[in-house]
Amino acid sequence: MHSILEDRHGRKASYLRVSVTDRCNLRCTYCAGAGDFIPHPDILRYEEILDFMDMAHRMGIEKVRFTGGEPFVRKGFGDFLIEAASRFPDMELCVTTNGTLIGGEIDRLAAAGVKRLNISLDTMDPEKFTRITKRDLFGRVRDAIDHCLDAGMVVKVNAVAMRGINDDELPAFVDFARARPLDVRFIEFMPVGLENGWQDSAVWRAADILAEASKVAELTPVNLDECPQHGPARMFTIAGGLGRLGVISPYSDHFCDTCNRLRLTSNGNLRTCLFSDKVYRLRPALRHPKLGLPAVEKIIGKASRHKPLGHELLERKPKNQGVCQTRMASIGG
Ligand code: SAM
Repeated sequence: MHSILEDRHGRKASYLRVSVTDRCNLRCTYCAGAGDFIPHPDILRYEEILDFMDMAHRMGIEKVRFTGGEPFVRKGFGDFLIEAASRFPDMELCVTTNGTLIGGEIDRLAAAGVKRLNISLDTMDPEKFTRITKRDLFGRVRDAIDHCLDAGMVVKVNAVAMRGINDDELPAFVDFARARPLDVRFIEFMPVGLENGWQDSAVWRAADILAEASKVAELTPVNLDECPQHGPARMFTIAGGLGRLGVISPYSDHFCDTCNRLRLTSNGNLRTCLFSDKVYRLRPALRHPKLGLPAVEKIIGKASRHKPLGHELLERKPKNQGVCQTRMASIGG
C-alpha cells in the first residue's frame, strides 16, 4: 500500500517536475544568477529517476515534466525521454526547454510519442534575445518551434512577463500566435532567486497583459473545463488566428490553493513549494544500500503532508527581494 500524496489542506499532488540538470547553455538575466553547478556524482542517474518515477506513479503522480537548467544539455536526454515514454505509457510526459538544442531530436521524439513541449521564448526580437540570454540563438529557437509543429507536437511558448523588458511586444507575440497552432503564455516574473533583477515593479501583471492584448486582438476566454491540460493558465482564442494567448499569474493571483505540484531537483532534493527554500534530501536514502525507495517513499509522504500554502510566504516577502533564494535554474521552474 503506497502513501497518498495529500496535504493538510486537502490538496493532492499529481504533477511532478523533474529537473535533470542545473546546467544551461543560456545565461538569462532573470534566471541564472551566480552559483556553482552541482558536481556530477551528485546528479541523479537516469535509472534512478526512472525508478523514482515508477514509485511516484504508484503514489498518484499522473504527469511528469522534465526541466532543468536546460534538459537537452544533459548527455543522452533524448534517449532517456524515449525510454521514459515506453516505460510509462499511461503518464503524461512533457518537457520544458529553451529549444536551442532540440533541432536534431524532434523527429525521433515525436515518433516515440514525446509530443508535449513547452519552449521558452521571452522576446520576438533577435537582438533583445541575445541581450536577455547572452547567446545569439534566436533563429534556432524560432526554427525549432516550427519544426515541432510540423512534427505534430503540442507546443506552448512561454514568455516571462517583465516590465521594461518585453512589455512593448504584445503585438508581435499576438501575431506569432495568430499565425501558428500553438499557445503563447505569459508567466509573471516570479520572486525566485537572488540578484536576478526581480522587484515588484518589474512584474508585468497578468491583468495588465490581458487589458493590453485586448487592444490588439479580439480575445475569447477558453473554457478550461474543456481543456484540462492548461493547469493554472487562463487561455484565450484570438479571432482569425490559429493559436491562442494566455497568462499565468503565480504572483498577482496565486493558485496555491489548487497547487498539485512536487519538484525533484537534479541532485535528488524534493521541494514541495516553489516559494520556499525548504528541501527534503532524498538522495542519501535513495542510494543507501539498506534504505532505498521504501525510505524515500516515507520521506515524500511526510513532506507532502506538510506542503505549505505558498501565498503565505509570498505575502511575507519584502517588496524587492525573492521569497525563495535558490536559483530557478537549479529548481527547474
Ligand atoms: N531551460 C529550460 C527553459 O528555458 O525552459 C527549462 C528550465 S527554466 C528554469 C524553466 C522556466 O522557468 C523557463 O520558462 C524560464 O523562463 C522560467 N523562469 C526562470 N526564472 C523565472 C522567474 N524568475 N520568473 C518566472 N519564470 C522564470
